[in-house]
Order: sequence, then structure tokens, then C-alpha cells
Amino acid sequence: MTLSPNDALLIIDLQNDFCPGGSLPISDAHAIVPLINALAARFSHIVLTQDWHPPAHISFASTHPNRQPYQTIQAPYGPQTLWPDHCVQQTRGAQVHPTLDVPHGQYKLHRTAVRIWDGRRSDIRFIRFEASASKY
Ligand SMILES: [Zn+2]
Repeated sequence: MTLSPNDALLIIDLQNDFCPGGSLPISDAHAIVPLINALAARFSHIVLTQDWHPPAHISFASTHPNRQPYQTIQAPYGPQTLWPDHCVQQTRGAQVHPTLDVPHGQYKLHRTAVRIWDGRRSDIRFIRFEASASKY
């Protein structure tokens, strides 16, 4: 693969809550970190996303009385699967995995509500890396 200076690496939701020990883990998710670190060294532009929910988010089962994770409710925008509380803003679970090593990462994208695949409202903020936040 030949990279140009305009190519970017997107690192999507590599957060503690999605790794073993998190509240919504994917088996062996952390195993990809060394590969990402090696790939990242080849890119000039890196964008990271973070799932980034406020407490009591509508997608959390705990927000709805008598509901359990993985049940579905009807939300104003359509069916909503209910999840365990995860990636709550400013918590350890929302932080990027600690072994991710991309000090030259340029942007973090915090996702608070994502319905972009069907064109509905989304609430996405681009956050430019602060110099002090460029290392995990
Ligand atoms: Zn989420």
C-alpha cells in the first residue's frame, strides 16, 4: 500500500468500555492495538472517534424503568436498542485504550448521538487535539 501525504487513518471507538474489562466489551478488541500503532506511524493524518454519551443517555437500559440491555424501545427517531451504560463522558470507560500510541493524532471526534447512516439528526463535535492531550 502506497500512502500519500493526504491519506488519513481513522481509529474508530477504540475505548476502554469496548475492550475486555469494559462495560460493553468486544472479545480481544485490545489485540488490534499493536497493529494500529504500527499503521499509525505511517500516516501523517490521524482522526480518532470516541463514543461519548452523557449520563442517563436514551440508549442506556438503566435510563428506562424495567428495561434490560439489548431490549428495543421506540424512540422519537425510531427503534432504539438499549445498551449497558458505556462510554459516559469524562469517565475511564470513555477514554481511548491506554496502549494506543498515536502522539501525532490530530483530531478527536466525540459522538454523542449517531444516526448519520439514515440521515437523521446527529450531534457530532470535532475537537482539535490540545498539545497536552496528544499523548494517552
Ligand atoms: Zn454508545
